[in-house]
Amino acid sequence: MQLEQVFERQKAGVAERRLRFGLPERRAALARLEAVIRARQGEICDAIAQDLGRPAGESLLVEVLPLMQEIGQARRQLRRWMRPRRVWGGLAGLGTRARLVPQAKGVALIVAPWNYPVSLALGPLVSALAAGCAAVVKPSELAPASAAMVSRIVAEAFDPDLVAVVEGDRDVATRLLALPFDHIFFTGSPEVGKVVMAAAARTLASVTLELGGKSPCIIGPGADLAAAARWVAFGKRINAGQTCIAPDHLLVHEAVAAPFLAALQAEYARGDSATRIITPRHAGRLRALLAEAEAMGARRITGGPGEGCAMPAVILEGMPEGSALTREEIFGPILPVVTWAGEAALLERLGAADVPLSLYLFERDRARIDRICRAVAAGAVGVNLTLLQFSHAGLPFGGKGRSGQGQAHGAWGFAAFSHLMPVLENRFSPARLLMPPLGAKGRRLLDLLLKWG
Ligand code: NAD
Repeated sequence: MQLEQVFERQKAGVAERRLRFGLPERRAALARLEAVIRARQGEICDAIAQDLGRPAGESLLVEVLPLMQEIGQARRQLRRWMRPRRVWGGLAGLGTRARLVPQAKGVALIVAPWNYPVSLALGPLVSALAAGCAAVVKPSELAPASAAMVSRIVAEAFDPDLVAVVEGDRDVATRLLALPFDHIFFTGSPEVGKVVMAAAARTLASVTLELGGKSPCIIGPGADLAAAARWVAFGKRINAGQTCIAPDHLLVHEAVAAPFLAALQAEYARGDSATRIITPRHAGRLRALLAEAEAMGARRITGGPGEGCAMPAVILEGMPEGSALTREEIFGPILPVVTWAGEAALLERLGAADVPLSLYLFERDRARIDRICRAVAAGAVGVNLTLLQFSHAGLPFGGKGRSGQGQAHGAWGFAAFSHLMPVLENRFSPARLLMPPLGAKGRRLLDLLLKWG
């Protein structure tokens, strides 16, 4: 079937789905997805290993577990999310009954990146199904084994009239983006995010943009240095730094720079990530960034350019301002270190940068933590940890400005694929008294409303 046909068939079922794709059917759909993922978790890990060389244990931790949690939460909480909410409308709403009804937006397009190629394709699908949408999923062409796996999982769990996977590159994505989807959920780079938003402007689709950027990681003078080193090493090196919320660079207080870097080097020496850089082209870009920074005076204190798609994790000291590493999202295992002295200058630096997807702060001084949290803008702030804010079931996930818009996960993911439709019913509304010509009773009512609102 041509992708346009897949879309047309899903679109033709929208009205029918509104009536028949209720709580039990959505729960059953989520249960099917869960069962297929559970049965195929070994194959999922194998496919990811083919694309990225990532060990199976790590893939279970960072892809299968978050998916299982997302599905479990949706199945447990869906009844509450779907329930229409009664709302009170004040004096002017007297004699009416108002409720907010979450209604499926319709047919959704989910475009996914290659770095967590299974969970970032299927995670948003959980929210789309919970909301009652049909969906077309386009995985990344740069992780072909994982994309084929996503296709197999979806084909096993769903009829293509409900969920279909369309594999392909940017040309396929362009064809999909030309279709009048009701919602587009895009995860990828800010540059392609702009292309997606421009396409959505032509069809007036709503968008969720989960983008990337440079997530700073602050090591404060009061940080527990050993713990901070452990968290930074974990957050930066898992998936070889190819994580949208990985610490991009370190901002270390000068008073603790030497002992912190010693602790970090010791953590790095305990063994590196087995994950490789996704393609030789991506590895080449990272080596060019590294070479330029070194030529401008940066010093490599561990790691190296490596060969092929392998790159031993690098820590870079003495970062020259103006190098491409200080401007571009690194998205790889290179960790530049910048030192700071005064908090005012630190906040000024953060304020001048694009709003990051995440900001990390390692510090024990409560007053400083509170001050920095109030002063910064970020998709999310992680204090004395890295990455965990992604998988906390009570928190939404998403960026702001250049790091994205809209929020994903749990109830927020459900909301992204839903239209909160107001339904207002007249029972004995006195509003008819206000219809011209205005009589004495109408005048009294109007005076009352003007006084009390
Ligand atoms: P990308 O933007 O290059 O590609 C993402 C998807 O868009 C792919 O499916 C690709 O086929 C498609 N695409 C590429 N060019 C396109 C075009 N011109 N028109 C339409 N579609 C196009 O991103 P990537 O390299 O796969 O992923 C890395 C980026 O994703 C990083 O910036 C990273 O920070 C970000 N990211 C964000 C999150 C998040 O949740 N916020 C998660 C993972 C990755």
